[in-house]
Amino acid sequence: MSTQDKPRRLTCCCCGAETMGRQWWNRDIGYGLCESCAETIPKRHPDEDMPRLYGVRGYHYALGEAQAEGTT
Ligand SMILES: [Zn+2]
Repeated sequence: MSTQDKPRRLTCCCCGAETMGRQWWNRDIGYGLCESCAETIPKRHPDEDMPRLYGVRGYHYALGEAQAEGTT
């Protein structure tokens, strides 16, 4: 049972930037993937197992893509 349904401030596990995301069980506590690394990692490492390593895109990381409202 998870109570982590609200995004929280995380530190990017890749570049150290602050980002909003949700804790993924396979990540250290307080760490997640920032949006720029969510873009570059799949390009640099196409075989990377993103769901296993970082969780669900748009939910655990890269929230901006799923919540792209209010930007116009
Ligand atoms: Zn990053």
